[in-house]
Amino acid sequence: MRVDAVTLFPDMIDLPLSESIVGRARTEGLLELGFANPRDFTEDRHRTVDDKPYGGGTGMVMMAEPVYRALKSVKKKNSFVILLTPKGKRFSQAAALELAKKKHLVFICGHYEGIDERVSSLADMELSIGDYVLTGGEPAAVAVIDAVTRLIPGVLKKGDATVNETFTGALLEAPHYTRPGVWRGKAVPPELLSGNHKLIEQWRGVRARELTAKQRPDLAGQGTGVSTARRGKVFKK
Ligand code: SAM
Repeated sequence: MRVDAVTLFPDMIDLPLSESIVGRARTEGLLELGFANPRDFTEDRHRTVDDKPYGGGTGMVMMAEPVYRALKSVKKKNSFVILLTPKGKRFSQAAALELAKKKHLVFICGHYEGIDERVSSLADMELSIGDYVLTGGEPAAVAVIDAVTRLIPGVLKKGDATVNETFTGALLEAPHYTRPGVWRGKAVPPELLSGNHKLIEQWRGVRARELTAKQRPDLAGQGTGVSTARRGKVFKK
């Protein structure tokens, strides 16, 4: 998959996505990540990318033209363009599954007070990573690209890892334990040490239901992730 980000601060995306599993996906060519900086598409001496808001108010607004030109430099026929904004549709595992099917994603990252509203017409969707306000779209792009990359076939060496996890089914995932069997007086549940796969599966099912009822009663029985994505598209195009 190819991903491009239109951003004033490429390192805020490039550096965190150079480590661990996503870093390896990039090295192996499973994810190609590129950047277009609106500052490189300005024509004045100061390479101006923002201006005061019409109507007054605090902060600066990113100007439409440098963003448009940066986007144009990376956009192809099959690109799916995502504008990151706290006003967008809430990102979810189901949306990650949909995005993982695309050939080319382009993320537009705002900064300061955001981007001139007229840019929104260039995007196929507006996406928020949650009900809080970040200083810029870059950390949001990192979160979305990370969640999508691990769903690209071949990125996780055990494909299974994405099948039974939290938000893929209707339940949160059951807890995990590793060695030692007793850590500071806390023992691993004996079912997991039994070697009896049926018993282990039963235990995991019960714990997943208990955990979901306690932490996320809103999810219980709803079915998110794969099941939702299979029932219908999360977004258009
Ligand atoms: N003034 C805007 C508002 O009240 O909606 C907030 C602008 S925010 C400080 C600057 C940029 O950060 C936004 O243009 C957007 O790209 C990004 N951003 C902030 N919060 C976000 C979120 N929850 N999800 C996705 N992007 C976000």
